[in-house]
Amino acid sequence: MKLTMKANAKLNLMLDILSTLPNGYHELFMVMQSVDLADEVTVALTDGDKITLTCSDPHLPTDERNLAYKAAVAFFEHFDLPQQGLSIHIEKHIPQAAGLAGGSADAAAVLRALFVLFQKTPDVRTIAALGAKIGSDVPFCALGGLMLAQHTGTLLSFLPALPIGTFVLVTPEHPVSTAAAYAAFDTAGRVRHPDRRGMLESILNGDADGVCARVNNVFEQFIDVPERVQIKAVMRAHGAKASCMSGSGPTVFGVFETDEAAQAAAEALKREFQNVFVCRAAEQGIEII
Ligand code: ATP
Repeated sequence: MKLTMKANAKLNLMLDILSTLPNGYHELFMVMQSVDLADEVTVALTDGDKITLTCSDPHLPTDERNLAYKAAVAFFEHFDLPQQGLSIHIEKHIPQAAGLAGGSADAAAVLRALFVLFQKTPDVRTIAALGAKIGSDVPFCALGGLMLAQHTGTLLSFLPALPIGTFVLVTPEHPVSTAAAYAAFDTAGRVRHPDRRGMLESILNGDADGVCARVNNVFEQFIDVPERVQIKAVMRAHGAKASCMSGSGPTVFGVFETDEAAQAAAEALKREFQNVFVCRAAEQGIEII
């Protein structure tokens, strides 16, 4: 038996850091949106008890360091099952260490596949609790759509879907370590916080323009991605309703009213950058293909 899943990337329409918790983690307020830029993750049951993992990207680990591998181990532990033979293959399309939660999406896809293959009820609470053991973005990736993520990112609230347009993503060749990004926050002085309440009210009122006006990521105040200025300028010149960094970067996304405007912006950006993607909001984090 085997299943292939689409593992959707995420964008942060808002990312605010409220405080540093006593355990060193950060208290977050994030409005997250799944988008249909996706990895394809195939999970097959095999004989024996070994987990083997292959990946189209030779730079990624294929052992227990891979989040998809960790997800399989966590699943068997959670349900107190003896480890079973699995082969996992990941076709990577989401750039890694890009602020798009690609690794978390792969882990979420493995979890979702195992719930189906082992006929476990896909209860939202169980999925969220299990995902949180693997990584703080995994619960969101396993559920997805438009959500508010609070505390360390694992405390989730469903938000009503709000089509705000077509997204263009640019990932400069400028990897950013998430740990270094938080360290930069910890040593920064004053932080300008975004309009969190206005963002939630705009979403609840179905006000796409209000949402676009409030798109914001506090990491832009601490993380220097030199290409960001140029990317945003090109996006603005093509009519972007908003442009912002996702996660701890370096990916910058723009929101466009129409597919045509998004395609025109993407063509212009492709003259300067290699990793440019056009995508749309997805209603779920993981889909069975
Ligand atoms: P975030 O949005 O949470 O900042 P990210 O997009 O920065 O996430 P990922 O692409 O998820 O980061 O990967 C970050 C690190 O996780 C990489 O350094 C990579 O080696 C490791 N990793 C482990 N498993 C995977 C995987 N399946 N895909 C991508 N990266 C993985």
